[in-house]
Amino acid sequence: MSTFSGACLCGRIRYEVSGEPPTSYSCHCRDCQYITGGAPNSAIYIPKAVLTLSKGEPSSYRSRSDSGAEKTLFFCGNCGTHLFGESELFPGALVLKVGSLDDPGVFQSTMSVWVSSAQAWHYIDPDLPRHDKAPA
Ligand SMILES: [Zn+2]
Ligand SMILES: [Zn+2]
Repeated sequence: MSTFSGACLCGRIRYEVSGEPPTSYSCHCRDCQYITGGAPNSAIYIPKAVLTLSKGEPSSYRSRSDSGAEKTLFFCGNCGTHLFGESELFPGALVLKVGSLDDPGVFQSTMSVWVSSAQAWHYIDPDLPRHDKAPA
């Protein structure tokens, strides 16, 4: 078991995660481009139960993703850092945004998803599996 932690840019919100992250990936969907400022999103897929908020309460925004599923994005209402998101497609799971980790160096992408929405200038690792949309 490993534990890692993260926070938003201003430090108002902190979280801890326990356990091995099951899946890390790069998402090229249009929604993620908004969240990151244009680049693909680096994310870790975790069971909701392993995340504990240790400080603060994130703001949230509900919308429909490219797949049509309702999703909720959680972010700091003060500094705007995106922390994690959840989708009705994957109940009980959270997608953690790697940029908010105390050590983003632990991230290692294992696949690229939503490459059908990638911009021509996005880097897509040629050695990793690619999915046009979300993996089945
Ligand atoms: Zn903040
Ligand atoms: Zn995405």
